[in-house]
Amino acid sequence: MSETSPIPESDFLSKLTVLYVEDDPDIHRLLDRVIQAHAGALVTARDGEEGLRLFELKRPDIIVTDILMPTLDGLEMTRLIRDLEPEIPIIVTTAHSDAEFFMRSIDLGIDRYVLKPTAPQTLLKALQHCAKALRHRRETESANRYVRFILDIQPNLLLVTEHERLEYINRAFLNLLGFQSLEQFLVSGARLGDRLLDRAGKPLVDPSASPNADHWLTTLLNVSQEHGVVHLRRADQPQGRVTPYAITFNALPELNRYIFSFSDVTHLEKEKQQLEIQAFTDALTGTCNRARLQGVLNAELRRSQRHELPLSVILCDIDHFKRINDRFGHQTGDDVLRQVSALMAANIRAEDVLARWGGEEFMIVSPQNDLESQRMLAEKLRGLIEATCIPTVGNITCSFGVAQRRDDDTIRDLTERADRALYVAKEGGRNRVEVAVNSEFGVTTAERRDNRA
Ligand code: GH3
Ligand code: MG
Ligand code: MG
Repeated sequence: MSETSPIPESDFLSKLTVLYVEDDPDIHRLLDRVIQAHAGALVTARDGEEGLRLFELKRPDIIVTDILMPTLDGLEMTRLIRDLEPEIPIIVTTAHSDAEFFMRSIDLGIDRYVLKPTAPQTLLKALQHCAKALRHRRETESANRYVRFILDIQPNLLLVTEHERLEYINRAFLNLLGFQSLEQFLVSGARLGDRLLDRAGKPLVDPSASPNADHWLTTLLNVSQEHGVVHLRRADQPQGRVTPYAITFNALPELNRYIFSFSDVTHLEKEKQQLEIQAFTDALTGTCNRARLQGVLNAELRRSQRHELPLSVILCDIDHFKRINDRFGHQTGDDVLRQVSALMAANIRAEDVLARWGGEEFMIVSPQNDLESQRMLAEKLRGLIEATCIPTVGNITCSFGVAQRRDDDTIRDLTERADRALYVAKEGGRNRVEVAVNSEFGVTTAERRDNRA
């Protein structure tokens, strides 16, 4: 048998130390022998006082004791030992059979009784019974310690509920909450519900809910089943900062328990944001791209329709851009695109959206601007671009088409009107702003405005 093989159940007694307390030397001699033959070690005492002293000194695993002894009797000694070690197995050898004795011994939780005169085999059986129970208890304790250790070294936050009660949280979770133990957290009056936050750091649990009710369990279950991400603030994190955690859970219905696991997904959220930015940004100019613009137009069109607010757009096209490319090269052409877009971006409101429409064309979407305000904005930008001297290239100009949303407009209707107005601006000699208005026949035309007049 290898060294790591488990010890057979019957041999476990041979690993244990037994304290035997008996004042009668004849009985002592008889039973010493059987204990010595089967236990790992034997410690003997002649009375309760000596027994207590040796218990503290040798810390035996099992105690066998007589009742009636000088100085301190067996039951009194047992009570004092149990105060020190509540779980220690105790076998009482007794000739007593009166009710009062049994009541006292039940109170003390005596494990086994062996009647006197005691046959060695009877005592051995009692010892083996206690050894077996002790072994099971130690194995369970060790397994529990092992499981706790594994749970505590988990970087993931773990939380176990039993019914509506918080039964266990692991070390990582305690650290996050800033507590040493679950008991400390519970008695502090802190509520888990207040710690479950959204991305902006606001509590997910309805703050208007009764202050006595902690709805964290419902919130955790809802979050796990829906988007799966909750935000928590670490004890060392400043007020404005939160960390995103993905939650998964296992239900153990037969035990009325849920096990929740929270894993830090900061890196995934960052990547997601990065990808979102990339997916919606024009790589050359850093403005919104067409995909993002589509989303903005969609949302703004619906919003302006719902609230009956104006919404206007500008289409801007750099004049004779091909010549710039031809004369100074494509790279310089790119620089011009970047500078024109930067100039426009710096001169629109925060709520306006600038997007690259394609090539050397840009669109500005302005919520709540009517046609006239939007024309003025286009005019301002036209003047700024015209007045700006671009390195290498010198002065350039742009043409602008402006349109405002009409009832029942689609995105296409609106942008086509702006495009037609832009076309009229080009036709009219470039470096000008044209506004799309209705003709008598309901056909869109563009009103010409000579900006140089
Ligand atoms: P118009 O005044 O009528 O708008 O004349 P234009 O030369 O600006 O217009 P045209 O459509 O003839 O040419 C646009 C040019 O823009 C052609 C194309 O090669 C260039 N272009 C499109 N995208 C880019 C880009 O990303 N970088 C550079 N450098 N050039 C681009
Ligand atoms: Mg052009
Ligand atoms: Mg063009």
